[in-house]
Amino acid sequence: MLINLNPSADVTALKKTLAGLGLWVKPLLNTDGVVQAILVKNHSPKIDRSILSALPGVISVFEQASPHPEVDRWRARPMHLPKTTFSQSSTVIIAGPCSVESANAIDEIASAVAAAGGSALRGGAFKPRTSPYAFSGFGHEALKWMRHAADTNGLDVVTEVMSELEVEHVADAADMLQIGSRNMQNFALLHRAGEAKMPVMLKRGRAATVEEWLMAGEHLYAAGASSVIFCERGIRGFDDSTRNLLDLSAVALLRHHYGLNVVVDPSHACGRRDLIIPLATAAMAAGASGVMVEIHPNPAEALSDAPQALSFKDLERMAVELKLEPKS
Ligand code: PEP
Ligand code: MN
Repeated sequence: MLINLNPSADVTALKKTLAGLGLWVKPLLNTDGVVQAILVKNHSPKIDRSILSALPGVISVFEQASPHPEVDRWRARPMHLPKTTFSQSSTVIIAGPCSVESANAIDEIASAVAAAGGSALRGGAFKPRTSPYAFSGFGHEALKWMRHAADTNGLDVVTEVMSELEVEHVADAADMLQIGSRNMQNFALLHRAGEAKMPVMLKRGRAATVEEWLMAGEHLYAAGASSVIFCERGIRGFDDSTRNLLDLSAVALLRHHYGLNVVVDPSHACGRRDLIIPLATAAMAAGASGVMVEIHPNPAEALSDAPQALSFKDLERMAVELKLEPKS
């Protein structure tokens, strides 16, 4: 927003008033060094334009068109999967293994997710791995195992699609496509995923600003996505005491400023199982619509991300802490 001032405006008093309204501002000088306008920075709290226009010394107020109008259209609106609703008052639990390891294991996991009150099964069939020699998922077979396990237990399927060449196959097996952190700005993938015209969970890039994240969501909507759930999974920090830095400020901003549905993935954020439940609780307090966590029947044996895998008991404990009613 740009606030144009008349030459006699009391800039000091105005700055004080704007700060009192909670706005981040930057005075702009003309060539004579006189403050002629005040820029209200992006993501500042929303204040009605008429309030600003009425302030002493203000000539006019210009508002910038939002660069993500489709994302904005979802303010305070619930989003639905067949068995899951994300809303401003939901506590959704999405849980499952880092990677889908076998038909039997995913059946066992899906039954534990349902028993704990979760509504969606996560799991990687196609895994992005830092090393080319690391296990990278069982691919198409894993999608089938996962679909079967979810259907048997009344759950939705959330799984990552890594390549635009795989969108069709993954979309056939999933209720919500997951775009991984490493691919948040892979625009070719975003376009193909959007063209599947289904819900997409968009993980935040590891070094992405909130604006870049929202714009990636806009790409999905522009291509046809039916809804976009934003997933905060930790960004790169300077400190390696946790795997990533869980940005709960961004969660609060998306929920309270933009009115969007956000899911938090504390597993990839902190990388260690002992901190996942406290972070899940904090995420809900910050305004998340739900959490997504990694679980395994025998965490020590997980083929990927073992240190952050919760046991079934941990999952139940988390559900209780989040005040989800476990299914009997
Ligand atoms: C995942 O959820 O399986 C995953 C790989 O997460 P991220 O893209 O956040 O690293
Ligand atoms: Mn993982």
